[in-house]
Amino acid sequence: MSESIFKGSFTQQEAIPEDAIEAAVAVLRSGRLHRYNLAEGETGSVAGLEREYAKWQGSRFCLAVTSGGQALQIALRAAGVKPGDEILTNAFTLAPVPGAIAAVGARAVLVETDENLRLDLGDFEQKAQTGRARVLLASHMRGHLCDMDRLMAIADANGIVVIEDCAHTMGAKWNGKRSGNFGLAGCFSTQTYKHMNSGEGGLLTSGDPEFMARATILSGSYMLYERHGAGPASEAFQDLRYQTPNCSARLDSLRASILLPQLQNLESSIKRWNEHYNTVAGILKDCSAIVLPERPAKEEMVGSSIQFRIPDYQSEDCKRFLELCAQRGVELKWFGAEEPAGFTSGHHSWRYLDSQNLPQTDCILSTLFDMRLPLTFSSEDCQLIAQIIAEIVKKGRV
Ligand SMILES: *Cc1c(COP(=O)(O)O)cnc(C)c1O
Repeated sequence: MSESIFKGSFTQQEAIPEDAIEAAVAVLRSGRLHRYNLAEGETGSVAGLEREYAKWQGSRFCLAVTSGGQALQIALRAAGVKPGDEILTNAFTLAPVPGAIAAVGARAVLVETDENLRLDLGDFEQKAQTGRARVLLASHMRGHLCDMDRLMAIADANGIVVIEDCAHTMGAKWNGKRSGNFGLAGCFSTQTYKHMNSGEGGLLTSGDPEFMARATILSGSYMLYERHGAGPASEAFQDLRYQTPNCSARLDSLRASILLPQLQNLESSIKRWNEHYNTVAGILKDCSAIVLPERPAKEEMVGSSIQFRIPDYQSEDCKRFLELCAQRGVELKWFGAEEPAGFTSGHHSWRYLDSQNLPQTDCILSTLFDMRLPLTFSSEDCQLIAQIIAEIVKKGRV
């Protein structure tokens, strides 16, 4: 086992299920790919997806859009964010989050990350108390939910509207409540690497009819907003329809048709991801140099990726460690690199933002590693990967 090499791919997703392929072919045969291009009496797959997702999520309303990033932008606009407004968000997140804030002309102020990779609630409270920010875009990066009850209490006490970025927490819960249902709105992605796969796509959920009416028109509904599966009643649109711009970000019937059958499998996928996570975590936790984030009892996670730190490593050690892992087929990402690479970047390379001072986050990210756990992995694959990592770390200073 000493020089075993992992031969699998960290970026290979499962095939689209056969019933989804059949549904997609039926849409293609119909020629009706636009969500509003419906035959008499037909609901269409986009409205069908909105209805089913709202039911599953336990939210009153759901709107399907072209990407998770668009869901974020639309949510910010529909929440009334104006150019120049200050928006708080996590320092540890993915580029589409500061990107969405920049797209609406707002100014991102980043909040520190704690050692468990959650939003640092102490720093959030301090920044909330300045009274400058109206909105927190809470990004549950890599699936780590902070104490959502406390987060909401701080937000409420300071008049801050919360929008949740649930790109990595579709299906996760805090204290029995689904992530996305805490604040004004939840934003989800169905991009290939997330929990459902339509290549690109996004879902926006909320319980607020006025917010959702604005979001629906922003998404490009024209005056066809009654053809939605989980939207507010038409009264909610009466005045808004004259005042809300159409920003054309509709989901199409083809993508929706392949998501509907995947939604039926989501609970079972979550179970499988968590088995993978627990397999890898169970091996890494025996390695004293490795620190895994705590998973609080109130969190029901979706372990579609795993993160760990090696706090004793210097930058050179991290680079060497990545190399040694790569030589044995284990593709890790490292959040401490100076230069952005692949999907991974940090606030130092988001230079369109005002510069930020985040010593705690910088320190945590400097030795933070990250790995996807696609469902194409077997349990044996997960074991092998974790053993390779543990072996390399145990060999000592690399
Ligand atoms: C993927 C992702 C998004 C946005 O999703 P897209 O559908 O790619 O626009 C937002 N936030 C986080 C944390 C993500 O990982």
